[in-house]
Amino acid sequence: MSFQPPQRILMGPGPSDVHPRILSALARPTVGHLDPSFIQLMDEIKALLQFCFQTTNELTLPVSAPGSAGMETCFVNLIEPEDTIIVCQNGVFGGRMKENVIRCSATAVMVEDDWGHAIDMSKVKTAIANNPHAKALAFVHAETSTGVQSDAAALCTLAKEAGMLSIVDTVTGLAGINVDVDGWGADAVYSGTQKCLSCTPGISPVTFSPRAVEVIQQRKTPVQSWFFDLNLVMAYWGKGTKRAYHHTAPVNALYALHESLLIVKEEGLEASWERHMHNHLALRAGLAAIGLNLPVNEADRLPQLNLVAIPDGIDDAKLRSQLLTDFDLEIGAGLGVLAGKVWRIGLMGFSSKPENVRHCLTALEHCLIAQGMSIESGTAVGAAEAAYTS
Ligand SMILES: *Cc1c(COP(=O)(O)O)cnc(C)c1O
Repeated sequence: MSFQPPQRILMGPGPSDVHPRILSALARPTVGHLDPSFIQLMDEIKALLQFCFQTTNELTLPVSAPGSAGMETCFVNLIEPEDTIIVCQNGVFGGRMKENVIRCSATAVMVEDDWGHAIDMSKVKTAIANNPHAKALAFVHAETSTGVQSDAAALCTLAKEAGMLSIVDTVTGLAGINVDVDGWGADAVYSGTQKCLSCTPGISPVTFSPRAVEVIQQRKTPVQSWFFDLNLVMAYWGKGTKRAYHHTAPVNALYALHESLLIVKEEGLEASWERHMHNHLALRAGLAAIGLNLPVNEADRLPQLNLVAIPDGIDDAKLRSQLLTDFDLEIGAGLGVLAGKVWRIGLMGFSSKPENVRHCLTALEHCLIAQGMSIESGTAVGAAEAAYTS
């Protein structure tokens, strides 16, 4: 029997709801990965990615695997054995950066901040001063495990001033908040398709500055990974019409990516960021009205990923399971040290819309009342409505 998935509303940490235009793009006829029409599509995807990343970087392409592969592409290409990399960690994904550095036989100097807080610039400055020969500074722009945004512009500037490369995880940032690769002077940046691009999971857009490309070309040792070696990938994704086989591109998934990038371009980057902020403010107003607390400092909050403290006496697993079965609504659980303490409500891409905010608030209210919280039904949606019209 064919698999028929339930129709969910995805308001977790990703994947987000996929736009119907993107789902129908996936169903178009498959062509060869060297078909002239496909080569043209690849060029368009590259230009659209440059638009979304706000960069003129020539080495901008979608890696044929999920966000974690974009991460790996950045680390294995830039790092050689015995390099030192300064890694900022304020959540789950900084920890994965550390793992990547170690597996490249390099040393990770960790700069740690409490989960739920932005990266502290003064700690980074100290780490740079203590490790002047470090090759790169790596950090997460939008930490999906905590809903925290760090100051990417300032961090890239610190790296540049110290003569270090910057490696930036903006898997959850792209199209939800400002990602200004050239403006920041960032060197290696990776993202994902299933967060604010609202595309299906499985592709990772990456972009590398000319300075990063030079470092890759001047490596003394070959990249340890054959699949992620950009010197080889470029034979397929490089300039001109002559493309050589490297691996079979996920043809239909790239139709989907192209459609998702077109949707972002049609809306406009600024308009997309504003929409994410607008819906975040309404969700926040609704949550506040029923006494739910957002633990992240206001200035550091990601509009596309909202960390919400679970009220005392509420059964986390039971509530999320009721949301799924009675409301077809997925929200995220807490990760790591925050497990059982918080929920993560995503408002990413196509999921970031008023009807989802209303649905989520109505559903949450219902389930909280079912667990004995005293809330007057309709309070949360009323507050969100007021936020939308103010
Ligand atoms: C989701 C995410 C990743 C990993 O992406 P996958 O597509 O799950 O491999 C990496 N970093 C951050 C910040 C993310 O949110």
